Amino acid sequence: MAALFDADRLSRCISCGFCLPACPTYAMTGDEASSPRGRITLMRALEAGRLDVDDPTLAEQASLCLGCRACEPVCPAGVEYGQLLEQWRGAQWQGRRRPLIVRALVLLVRLRPAHRLAGILRRAARRRADEADQLMLGCVERTLFPRVSRAALALAPGLAADPDQGCCGALHAHNGEPERGAALARRLGDDLPGTIVTTSGGCAAHLASVIGRERVREFSEYVQDQRFQPVLIDGRPARVTLQDSCHLRNGLGVWREPRRLLQSVADYVELPSAATCCGAAGTYSLVRPRESRALAKAKVAEIEAAGVDMVVAVNPGCLRQLRQALRRHRSRVRAVHLTEFLALSTKGPH
Ligand code: SF4
Ligand code: SF4
Repeated sequence: MAALFDADRLSRCISCGFCLPACPTYAMTGDEASSPRGRITLMRALEAGRLDVDDPTLAEQASLCLGCRACEPVCPAGVEYGQLLEQWRGAQWQGRRRPLIVRALVLLVRLRPAHRLAGILRRAARRRADEADQLMLGCVERTLFPRVSRAALALAPGLAADPDQGCCGALHAHNGEPERGAALARRLGDDLPGTIVTTSGGCAAHLASVIGRERVREFSEYVQDQRFQPVLIDGRPARVTLQDSCHLRNGLGVWREPRRLLQSVADYVELPSAATCCGAAGTYSLVRPRESRALAKAKVAEIEAAGVDMVVAVNPGCLRQLRQALRRHRSRVRAVHLTEFLALSTKGPH
């Protein structure tokens, strides 16, 4: 049988357990199988044929894992857990074993309805100019949150935004189609020459892993040297907090940049669990709604305790998750994307 995993990646884990305290699903269950180390043991059993893909523990753990990659920065052996998870789901989530909702979502993106729904944004977007840095619009973001790209273009007017650009393939890569995910990223890299700027942490990390880190800039990195006016609410500095994007922080190591920007324009408060997944995790809120809501509930409690006006996200999935959770808990706190928040600063007091 052909290898399911890269042998080097799978063998790198030394079972030290340093990753266990960082893992949100291990914190939820206390079960070794729900930890990074436990899951790597399961992957090794799958690779060796000691377990087959229909094994219930394998099925449960493949979907319970958030794919947040919080286990990577703390790992002394440099285990690339995110890559292993993609390969695992590539083997595990085939045919009927793939969650139905995941199948439907990938199909939806394949049909590219987002492009038809993006009329408003298309009017705002400029045609591609080969010499300009390129703004990636993102399938989910351009459909659900077109204001995010509009704000990005207002803040960085030199960016080009090709309305016909395709999908980066992150959704596919994280949900059982790693080869297709990589092929889509390569195609997008070919379509958008030069530097690609993205307002989605998840897309940024996936794209960088395929076409190279040097070609990808997440928006907060891109504008980190710009100066913005303070954001005021009722004549006082807005009080804000940040929810990290897991892949942006754990995959690309970008977490200081959005904080510095927020600190420069607002009264910034750090959430104790800012670096911990909010439960959005790509398709997780659909595949594992109970666990996703539990994570979101804890997040809302922290946001409320922080006494902030707004919580800022740097990924559309997190933005959607936070907005829904804040609404569900009747919070007065607003969730906004970083670009939308920085765009407020250009308007001065409001
Ligand atoms: S920290 Fe790394 S090497 Fe240690 S158990 Fe976790 S994945 Fe394996
Ligand atoms: S990706 Fe997140 S949930 Fe999955 S094993 Fe790593 S830390 Fe745990």
